[in-house]
Amino acid sequence: MTFMTEFQQKITDLLPGVELRLNEPMDKHTSFRIGGPVEAMAFPKTVQQLSEILKVSALLDSKPAILGAGTNILAPDAGVKGLVVCMKDCLDTMEQLDATHIRVSAGVSMTRAAVFAANLGLSGLEFAHGIPGSVGGGVYMNAGAYGGEISQVCTQVDVMDMTGSLRTLSCEEMAFSYRHSRLEEEGGIVVSAVFVLTPKPAEEIRSVMQDLMTRRKNSQPLDLPSAGSAFKRPVGGYAAALIDGAGLKGYRVGGAAVSEKHAGFVVNLGGAKAEDVKQLLSDVADIVFVDTGVHLEPEVRIW
Ligand SMILES: Cc1cc2nc3c(=O)[nH]c(=O)nc-3n(C[C@H](O)[C@H](O)[C@H](O)COP(=O)(O)OP(=O)(O)OC[C@H]3O[C@@H](n4cnc5c(N)ncnc54)[C@H](O)[C@@H]3O)c2cc1C
Repeated sequence: MTFMTEFQQKITDLLPGVELRLNEPMDKHTSFRIGGPVEAMAFPKTVQQLSEILKVSALLDSKPAILGAGTNILAPDAGVKGLVVCMKDCLDTMEQLDATHIRVSAGVSMTRAAVFAANLGLSGLEFAHGIPGSVGGGVYMNAGAYGGEISQVCTQVDVMDMTGSLRTLSCEEMAFSYRHSRLEEEGGIVVSAVFVLTPKPAEEIRSVMQDLMTRRKNSQPLDLPSAGSAFKRPVGGYAAALIDGAGLKGYRVGGAAVSEKHAGFVVNLGGAKAEDVKQLLSDVADIVFVDTGVHLEPEVRIW
């Protein structure tokens, strides 16, 4: 018989209708391809299942970690104790509400949401095409690119708190700022978001999306595992320019390195450990600080 921890036994018994995977490797779920096994990972298929999972977690005195598409997470090599709730592809509906509004569930990828809007002839989500995360992760951290960001188009967000209750927050109540929302301090799970968009010919929207994708392919190391920009943009500058200026392109710790193609990206050259990435982030921040006096803050969420 396979050994189960007490937590695994309890959660399996208490959530009979929910897809649960025990000892699920995080490296399968992160774009860095890093991270050890999770004690239990749950895949809610409905909002009701999500609520049930959170209620059971509270009963077991366990605060679950929330996983979207795993494109902005550095997960520990030793794995994660307790429960991880995986939202990616689980809650994945999209609907047009009226001439200018769409509602998208948290598990939908940002790219799919952008394509959905483009097909309806609705402009505003072009910037999101090519961001590899989920809408839930994007709303949680106000993702953005090429001058656009979630806060510019998001009008309301359905958020579930850790007791399983749902409430609706307006854009103002989300308190979005650069790569940040209030959920980072308060917790809460993005279930869906409503976006307000502007009618425009679909061809024009697609052409902008293609242009942005070409710019990404030309400037980013998309052939290697990474979590996108490793550092937030410091006030008045760009992390990549400061890192490049400090001569750190190609700087390496174990299997992790500063990308040769884009100094703002840390890439996994093969077999990188979370500890390698952490050490590299710390070294880069220290060297840039000595070089320029600027403090770089990681954008990647370190679990
Ligand atoms: C090649 C590459 C390019 C990238 N380019 C960009 C870019 O241009 N702009 C940009 O902003 N980012 C970029 N990123 C980073 C990443 O895609 C975004 O930060 C994205 O928004 C993260 O979404 P995710 O679903 O992957 O979240 P995850 O990485 O799974 O999670 C990130 C954080 O969000 C939380 N979270 C996830 N889902 C939810 C939810 N439903 N409710 C509450 N909390 C949740 C997690 O707990 C975690 O703290 C890039 C990444 C890569 C690998």
